[in-house]
Amino acid sequence: MKNNFDVIIVGGDIIGLTLANLMAMDNISILVLDKKYNLYHSPRAVSVDYENIRVWQTLGILNKLYPFIQSCEKGKDLVTYKSASGKTLTALQQHDTNYGYLQGYSLLQHEVEKVLKRNLRKYPKVTVLFNHNVSSFKEINDNVFVKSNSNGETFNYKCKYMVGCDGEDSLVRRTLGIDMKGFTYKNPWLLIDAIEKSKKLKTCEVFCDYKRPNLNLPLAKHFRRFEFMLKKGEKEEDFLKDEKIEHLICKHTNIKIEEIERKMIDVFEARLAKKYSKGRVFLAGDSAHIIPPFGGQALSSGLRDVSNLSWKLSSVIRNKWDKSILKTYEQERRPHQKKMNRLSVILGLIFMPKNALQMYLQNGLLYLVSNVPYLKKKFEVRGENLQPVYKKGAIRKGNLAGHFFPQPVINGEKLDYALGYNFAVVIFGGEGLNERELDEVEFYKRKGSNIVFISPEHEKEFKDLLDLSLRHFIVVRPDRFIYKHLIREKDLT
Ligand SMILES: Cc1cc2nc3c(=O)[nH]c(=O)nc-3n(C[C@H](O)[C@H](O)[C@H](O)COP(=O)(O)OP(=O)(O)OC[C@H]3O[C@@H](n4cnc5c(N)ncnc54)[C@H](O)[C@@H]3O)c2cc1C
Repeated sequence: MKNNFDVIIVGGDIIGLTLANLMAMDNISILVLDKKYNLYHSPRAVSVDYENIRVWQTLGILNKLYPFIQSCEKGKDLVTYKSASGKTLTALQQHDTNYGYLQGYSLLQHEVEKVLKRNLRKYPKVTVLFNHNVSSFKEINDNVFVKSNSNGETFNYKCKYMVGCDGEDSLVRRTLGIDMKGFTYKNPWLLIDAIEKSKKLKTCEVFCDYKRPNLNLPLAKHFRRFEFMLKKGEKEEDFLKDEKIEHLICKHTNIKIEEIERKMIDVFEARLAKKYSKGRVFLAGDSAHIIPPFGGQALSSGLRDVSNLSWKLSSVIRNKWDKSILKTYEQERRPHQKKMNRLSVILGLIFMPKNALQMYLQNGLLYLVSNVPYLKKKFEVRGENLQPVYKKGAIRKGNLAGHFFPQPVINGEKLDYALGYNFAVVIFGGEGLNERELDEVEFYKRKGSNIVFISPEHEKEFKDLLDLSLRHFIVVRPDRFIYKHLIREKDLT
């Protein structure tokens, strides 16, 4: 078997598999190594948003993913924060975005992984090996040498770049000597995935109850997730008993379950790696950050990582870009990650009041915030409060560079299909180009970019981002962030 690859990805779970799919589209040769025998069979992470769905759209696999992704209708409550007695304190409504998808979705991670893994079969330059435990690696000159063990045998591979998508206990991170900063929550949580066929309740319910913080949310197919916090002194083994689980669900919710699919105890953490790379080796997903689940940002953040890293690595490997661009991965991703970690920790404080006094104060505050439009907009866990805006990195600073580019439907098709998986030029305000614009367009055409003119009747679709009294010349990166934004001269014709 071939042992020399452009990229080796350690960890073939959702993040590693998404990265492999993205880079395979750039014709990069890839080896994915995972120590487990096969993919997991149960749900794990449960939420993603429109930014993440857009990444999977790029891969052309959305039709296959839809049975495993679910969202409530526009205008309905996506998440409802409730008091211990069940009074609604605030609700986050499902809403449409300018990016082609609704705000939030729940997913069945294990089913999404199957689709991602199957999709890799169509790329002859991609090899996926399970039951391969990466035991060590070393960077020598311009290569990384990687050892893996399978059934007692040692295998040696070589690559130009390696990415550790090997989860929270990452061997890659530990070998690089990169520390993680943060903390572990004291109280463990009971996580249950159950079969619930009635599916009457479409919202995620979060009970901010100091006696027993808990939540539940619907997943695709007939699954429902329940999470209960254990209190000091409570024994984990007691809570893994089916009778106890049924009692908890009955006591705290009005939901009737048919079957328990998975039960486990987990301890949440909030940690961030001090660095996201060293030499030719990068970290992505849980290996770089462990986020408590209170803001639904754990998986989303990993998907943002690989969407950011994939095109940068591909361009360097293809000699399209100088390797200095790779520094911008950490520059762009880490500050946003820090923000998501902080946000999730704050939401956790609201969700897990320590005592009755704190609970009443917090619940009152939550109620107030949700009823004052200015405060609600500022603190709501959605849209611009979550989405990254890159202030420095792989952008040409100025105007709206670094912002996420909208994806309206134009001529019956979502915009990304016209942009392609590459840099793309999007021009507003007519097709007559001046000399400088023509030079730019020629430059990007030579790089294989698509040039898209937005006709006047479609410009209004961009009104939330752009001042439509001006004419715009925008270069969009493959991860759909704006690389360069120029204001065109007034049309003198
Ligand atoms: C059992 C479980 C339950 C979870 N439940 C939730 C939840 O309820 N909500 C939530 O938001 N998130 C949950 N998560 C976390 C969520 O699944 C992750 O955020 C998500 O999977 C993204 O992780 P990743 O691909 O970066 O890492 P992981 O999913 O951890 O994948 C890492 C992969 O690397 C492989 N690997 C590790 N070391 C090596 C090595 N030395 N050699 C080769 N392969 C290696 C592992 O086998 C694994 O497949 C859960 C995770 C687990 C494991």
